[in-house]
Amino acid sequence: MSKRDYYEILGIERNATQDQIKRAFRSKARHLHPDNQDSGDESAFKELAAAYEVLSDEQKRSLYDRYGHDGLTGASGGFDGVDFGAFSDLSEIFSQFFGGGGGGRSGFRRSSVERGADLKYDLQLDFLEAVFGTEKKVTIKHLEDCTVCSGSGASPGSGPVKCATCTGMGQIRQTTQTFLGHFTQVLTCPNCNGEGTRIEKACTNCKGRGQVRKSREIDIKIPAGIDSGARVRLPNAGDHGRRGGPPGDVYVVIAVSEDSTFIREGSTIHIKQPISYSMAALGGEVLVPTVEGPKAIKIAAGIQSGTTITMRDQGVPHLSNQTRRGDQIVHVQVETPSRLSSEEKKLFEKLAELRGESLTAAKPEKVVKPVKEEEAQAAAAGAEPKAPEPAEKTEQSSKPREHNNKSARKSKGKKKSKEKDNASIIDKLADFFGARDAADE
Ligand SMILES: [Zn+2]
Ligand SMILES: [Zn+2]
Repeated sequence: MSKRDYYEILGIERNATQDQIKRAFRSKARHLHPDNQDSGDESAFKELAAAYEVLSDEQKRSLYDRYGHDGLTGASGGFDGVDFGAFSDLSEIFSQFFGGGGGGRSGFRRSSVERGADLKYDLQLDFLEAVFGTEKKVTIKHLEDCTVCSGSGASPGSGPVKCATCTGMGQIRQTTQTFLGHFTQVLTCPNCNGEGTRIEKACTNCKGRGQVRKSREIDIKIPAGIDSGARVRLPNAGDHGRRGGPPGDVYVVIAVSEDSTFIREGSTIHIKQPISYSMAALGGEVLVPTVEGPKAIKIAAGIQSGTTITMRDQGVPHLSNQTRRGDQIVHVQVETPSRLSSEEKKLFEKLAELRGESLTAAKPEKVVKPVKEEEAQAAAAGAEPKAPEPAEKTEQSSKPREHNNKSARKSKGKKKSKEKDNASIIDKLADFFGARDAADE
């Protein structure tokens, strides 16, 4: 392959000064640079760069002047072997093309492998799935290498070409001359962003990105006792890394649906259990729903509405230690009959008589309801420190009954401290039960 004369390539006289050589190179380089849409010419640019490398170096120039191209054999293997340290003003030219102040100065090296991105996946679980754990199949959409171009991003057959600017190194060296001497900086090649290659014809499958988003089904094991907000990590299920980089992870973020029967508080389950007034007075046994199905518990005679009964180890398994389980707290609610047959009414009246309970207020001529309620509340408040006395409660209407619940709960000394801790859950329970009561009516 015959080589053109270097002076001719640069368009200068043989006796041109270094300044003239530099100016000629700069104006031609702008014109021929491959990124110049109008006049870019990669091979011509390579030729120009090779010419400049020789003529800008006095030693190489004199060899060339005396022996022509042959005089340089061994001194330089052509453009591909060019040491860009020689081009002190090259980055300046590039910055004009790329509009940046010496683009790539950030030191961001894209040529190194990149780890794929982590992904988030939201997973909704039923209440019982979260309690006992489950296995789920989820569909994750992540980035994988394009199979058409094997991740190169170049159309098959075309292949990525070596970047002309950095000769595939991904970096250029910039030497700055100061009064202290030469300083050389290594910059990311602005032409290929450090890739070292450029895509001539983009792969149509991935539009030159080298990666495509694909759906993959993944089986997830959800441990028993998981709760809302917990994250399950699926290692290496995230986006695949570029250039063979390691894949990212998927974080499955758990949300647990509320249940109409059970209220969960960590590993504790709360439940409302209505019992009849007869059972409250006489005691007995009742079937209570648990996460494992209904189970019988004993109701002590004389139990008050609002009393809690703890069912040991009937709660949620501990996430950290699956052999341990929380408790289920049963909140007993005594239901007062709202409609009585005449026979039932007679029996109640008889019962009241037996117990010496008065069914009328002290002043019969002024039977005003609010007075009655006030008295009832006062009675309930007064009864607080004492042991609950059923005799005082029989004549209460439905409204003070709620008040009575509270006093009964407070009178339950051994539960007191625990319930204090559960202030928030009590509010939640109140809302929950209130809503249920409203729905029942
Ligand atoms: Zn592709
Ligand atoms: Zn490059």
